[in-house]
Amino acid sequence: MKKLCAIGEALIDFIPNEKGKRLKNVGSFRQVVGGAPTNVAASVARLGGESIVLTKLGEDAFGDNIVDTLNECGIDTCYIKRSKDLDTSLAFVSLSDDGNRDFKFYRKTAADLDYSKDDLPFEAIDDCGIIHFCSVSLVESKMKDAHIALLEYALKHQLVISFDPNLRLSLWEDHEALKKTVHDFIPYADILKLSDEEVEFITGNTDITKELGKLFQHRCKLIIYTQGKEGATLYFRDGRSVYCPGYSVDVVDTTGAGDSFIGAFLYKLLEDEKDLDKIAIEDYQSYLDFANCYAAHTTTKEGALNALANQKEMNSFINTIKKGSR
Ligand code: ATP
Repeated sequence: MKKLCAIGEALIDFIPNEKGKRLKNVGSFRQVVGGAPTNVAASVARLGGESIVLTKLGEDAFGDNIVDTLNECGIDTCYIKRSKDLDTSLAFVSLSDDGNRDFKFYRKTAADLDYSKDDLPFEAIDDCGIIHFCSVSLVESKMKDAHIALLEYALKHQLVISFDPNLRLSLWEDHEALKKTVHDFIPYADILKLSDEEVEFITGNTDITKELGKLFQHRCKLIIYTQGKEGATLYFRDGRSVYCPGYSVDVVDTTGAGDSFIGAFLYKLLEDEKDLDKIAIEDYQSYLDFANCYAAHTTTKEGALNALANQKEMNSFINTIKKGSR
């Protein structure tokens, strides 16, 4: 089984000790490791696969916490760079009663944005089957240039490229620049994961089916449309699609649901080892169902990375869920 390579931010999320308050009114927070690419790599590692993360951290306590936590998850952290001069990125989060979030990022002196194309470990990338990236690290920076160099290399070496825009509007003063950036990077993707809000932001249309022609116009083979508790639909380039309903669970916190979903789906693709074009539709359906189940489990626990199940926890969750509801 090949490895997953996730590139982008690894940061500390300060999550609130109380729910239902606006960010400005939250009294106390605690630190958890976050960052969408990191959560995806952690999902693969927790499920028993291999993953590496390409990022840069400050030489500070928060960076130390990230490295320790990723090691505990089973991620290979040896390609993570550290900076003496720059800081590990931080994000403060508030949680509404229904599990939705509000963010404030502190990354003006972000070490992750200083990760450069010269930091890319091409010898390790050759062992990877899938490259995964998101949009938080695509602001103008050395990190953006590193993404481009990595994706060009992946194209040349026929690695599968997965893109989850994972939009964080508060990080972009100019939302049109974010939209343009996402459109600039879609042509790299073999797999594109979009939530309903992202479809609307990127295409201006709430109906994804009307936009599939445009979204598939480059090299994209699979579009995964996640629909929160309703589950997810997988669209294929040739017009076919499969839908899997979500699982009904007692939601505690939806943080990381989308990341754990795509992490579980990519884990299944790595385990399958076939070219995307050679995988049977029934297998895709079962991978989508597994991803729904894995993500539903994540929502039953607080936080993101610490909520990710390993195979054993997943098996017992699947057994309770089978007896239960959908
Ligand atoms: P995120 O909140 O991490 O940004 P997202 O917006 O990328 O997530 P969603 O569509 O909200 O993506 O959720 C991804 C997947 O997580 C869904 O397809 C579903 O499988 C699962 N999921 C999300 N919310 C719930 C829920 N309330 N109950 C059960 N499963 C859920």
